[in-house]
Amino acid sequence: MNAAIAASLSQAGRTGENPNVGCVIVKNGVIIGRGATADGGRPHAETLALAQAGAAARGADVYVTLEPCSHFGQTPPCTDALIQAGIQRCFIALIDPDPRVNFQGAAKLQEAGIDTSIGLCEISAKEAMSDWLKNRA
Ligand SMILES: [Zn+2]
Repeated sequence: MNAAIAASLSQAGRTGENPNVGCVIVKNGVIIGRGATADGGRPHAETLALAQAGAAARGADVYVTLEPCSHFGQTPPCTDALIQAGIQRCFIALIDPDPRVNFQGAAKLQEAGIDTSIGLCEISAKEAMSDWLKNRA
């Protein structure tokens, strides 16, 4: 999760109105995909990390600093992409306060059989996304 937070920090203040999320995909102790929300807010961190991991994402663990989105915005939902990629476990630092997501992303992953946990390194993730969180209050 620390690597995901580092990725998040690298994009702080550069993602427009979208959160500067960091995402890392790990398999057998090795990072196979890493991403952060791109400049202007798209693509999302999960999309970039999954693209890097490719087919190796099957059975891997995902560490993401913010709950993956579950609604169709200007991009398809990241939860669907994670489910399709066949990941095994998902560690989420922070639940998305956005009412369109708020626990629904995590629930969707769990329902799809992905072992999902919430709260790992929550305080550091909050710090990394503090500017974005401030604007949401
Ligand atoms: Zn997303």
